[in-house]
Amino acid sequence: MENKVIKTKKGIFIKTDKEFGAIVFSPYSGLFFAISKEYMTDTINYCEDKKNKLPDEIVKNLNIGIAQEKNFEIKSHWLPDNNAFSYVDDSKLPDSPIVINWLISNNCCFSCNYCYAGDVIDKPTDIADTKEVAQKILESNPLAVVFSGGEPLREKQKIIDGLSVLGNKVGIIIDTNGYRYDKDLAKLLKKNNAVVRVSLDSLHNELNSKIRPLKDNKSNANVLNTIIANIIKYREMKIPVLIHTVVSPVNKNSLFDLYDKLPALGVSGWRIFSVINPNDIEKKEKFEKLMTFGKSKSIDEAQREIQKEITIFSKKHISKSTFSLQIVHSTDSQKNSVILVLPSGKFATESRVRNEKKEIETNSIFEKYNVDLLWHYERYLGTINLK
Ligand code: SF4
Repeated sequence: MENKVIKTKKGIFIKTDKEFGAIVFSPYSGLFFAISKEYMTDTINYCEDKKNKLPDEIVKNLNIGIAQEKNFEIKSHWLPDNNAFSYVDDSKLPDSPIVINWLISNNCCFSCNYCYAGDVIDKPTDIADTKEVAQKILESNPLAVVFSGGEPLREKQKIIDGLSVLGNKVGIIIDTNGYRYDKDLAKLLKKNNAVVRVSLDSLHNELNSKIRPLKDNKSNANVLNTIIANIIKYREMKIPVLIHTVVSPVNKNSLFDLYDKLPALGVSGWRIFSVINPNDIEKKEKFEKLMTFGKSKSIDEAQREIQKEITIFSKKHISKSTFSLQIVHSTDSQKNSVILVLPSGKFATESRVRNEKKEIETNSIFEKYNVDLLWHYERYLGTINLK
């Protein structure tokens, strides 16, 4: 059905638009791809195990995490290549979301120095009915929904309720700090083809805990061991695990180490973000301390240094089918590329002009000054050259 998400026989989720083409989410790799319109029908046929004439370049990317293909470089998430989208301009980007980030929980056992949800965590809020919110999210027609927070795995019943509405209808990603593992929830995640994304900033416990300390501080010595043990448990269940790393002055030298060691843990991919200003005023002092760790004298200087390090790193490393790599150029001016659903059930985005979340209407998500449609696309699919 045009514009509606379908879960195909292969388990891959697809949304189509005849002016644009198809957008795909694979729960085997956790990756998103756009397919140019001439291959839209063949992509559906391929994913439904029907006859098709799909080019190899598309097939091999769709098969990541499914079939044991030879390792290859992921050159672009615009398939078969970026040029195949030369017909696309701003007006042809479909205006239903690729991803909605649902802050299902407003509490967390960590107290990260840069937390983007600091203005939500532990703050009083109306708590909405989970199934009703899930239904509202479904009606907004995203290709995938991220269960996030705070720490979503602290909200067992909410995850069960949310999945009862969204499971197998859209792609599911769980954003977790990795510290909590619940066997029953893991089984449910597996049943719903979910991908688990763990936030981890260094494989040195001391560094990681300096940036991402536990609230109680006492158990910091064991944090990394616990997170790694939990990643291994997900992998034993064949649940794909991706890592999110936020680069700050404390861990900017850890990137090479993470790139070398994460694949050995069975991690399928890695997304790297540069740190941006948190929107919780109470965190300001801690954030400034984090950013002036080392040589940088100011937040601006530290941010420039981080961009430099990421650029050096990205020139030396490629994204591969066995271990995908995506650098998300998160800058303050692109904050409104994300669609959020708050614990209250209200839709919001990060304001571009102020350090706060701005409520938006579900029927005008991409209207001017709400969520930026092009940045939303590029956040999940990488840069595209528009007409
Ligand atoms: S784990 Fe995530 S939600 Fe919790 S404090 Fe850290 S960044 Fe914020």
